[in-house]
Amino acid sequence: MIKYFLYYIPVISIGMLVGSLQSCESANSQNPYPKTDAIALSTTVDTNIIRTDSNQREELDTIPPKIPKPAETSPEGLQRLIKAYPNFGLKATENELIWKDGTKMVYDDGKEKDFRNLLNSPDLEDQLASMEYPMGETEPPKRGEDPGRVRFEPFFFKMYGKTKEEVRENLVQVTWMPKTYGNKLWVTKINGVNKKIEAISKELDELKHLHKYLENPGGTFNWRKIAGTDRMSMHSFGMTIDINVSYSNYWRWAIKGGDDEGKKIIVFKNRIPWEIVKIFEKHGFIWGGKWYHYDTMHFEYRPELIR
Ligand SMILES: [Zn+2]
Repeated sequence: MIKYFLYYIPVISIGMLVGSLQSCESANSQNPYPKTDAIALSTTVDTNIIRTDSNQREELDTIPPKIPKPAETSPEGLQRLIKAYPNFGLKATENELIWKDGTKMVYDDGKEKDFRNLLNSPDLEDQLASMEYPMGETEPPKRGEDPGRVRFEPFFFKMYGKTKEEVRENLVQVTWMPKTYGNKLWVTKINGVNKKIEAISKELDELKHLHKYLENPGGTFNWRKIAGTDRMSMHSFGMTIDINVSYSNYWRWAIKGGDDEGKKIIVFKNRIPWEIVKIFEKHGFIWGGKWYHYDTMHFEYRPELIR
């Protein structure tokens, strides 16, 4: 279940929270973000109210037995997965996703999770339904809004490959903006991600006023864990692209509040135009600029979250 508890208190050790969250989600394992570029052209200061996750949560020790029922009674989130990934012959029961080879994944593990546990041990339901991804132009994300960062990893391992070698078997080269740049990028052909990136690239190639944001893309495939966490970077699966690092902003650059951990807040900064975001979204990609823990160069293929 997706009950995670938030409450408002003015001072709390946000360092504990921030420390538990992943660092850079980019393709680059070293810090790829030149600090000199962290200039806020548009700055929105987050509310002074610190909203944080409490440690209160209830975890059920046992999951009640579920009796498989026909697909029409399965949760909406499961139906969205089936629709978003049509090449996998996915099926659903009342509380399971079933793959063509018979692999079953429980949808709702019946556990209540706080923010940290949503990131670290989500189920498929949390991936689909804990935070709705807002389409198009949106306000700067608030604390607790990280739509798309809740990922049930076994799903991505099963879909794109469990190891670097397995993922590599499905990588193909695409030419990024052939009329203007022509970088060769390795991306997966699973789910036609290569075709989608080619289509995005073709569209962007025609929009000269956007080119500076798209020159020298920061990276695509890179098998690794997110620094400081046990979670895989989505770059590991070859369905994620970082655009120009020089015009990107990242939440860790923008923590304000001096030495007092409890008063630290993340100041939202972004320079990526909505026009680029909308083109990626149209092709099934979500944008890291819609996360409180933002990463504005980052786009990943997550069609199950696109409405
Ligand atoms: Zn990235």
